[in-house]
Amino acid sequence: MENGEAGKGCDDCTSARQQVWSGFRYGCLVCRARMVSRSLPCHESRRQLRLTPEYRELLARMEVSHEQVKAAAVADFEQRSARV
Ligand SMILES: [Zn+2]
Repeated sequence: MENGEAGKGCDDCTSARQQVWSGFRYGCLVCRARMVSRSLPCHESRRQLRLTPEYRELLARMEVSHEQVKAAAVADFEQRSARV
């Protein structure tokens, strides 16, 4: 659906880019990708440097791609600031 447009028009996506924000909309693809990017299976995948079965299952359940999750993590203020 709203691919590529990085959550434009979504208040929760806008807020998450600018501040630590824990709001999500299930109807927004970028919100779902951000939710997955903060999840334990995603952190575990990063730590192991591979896509774990749990992470793949979560991607399928939330109907987002790994690429979308990576993009959401980059745009996420909380994760940007946590990396410092
Ligand atoms: Zn959103």
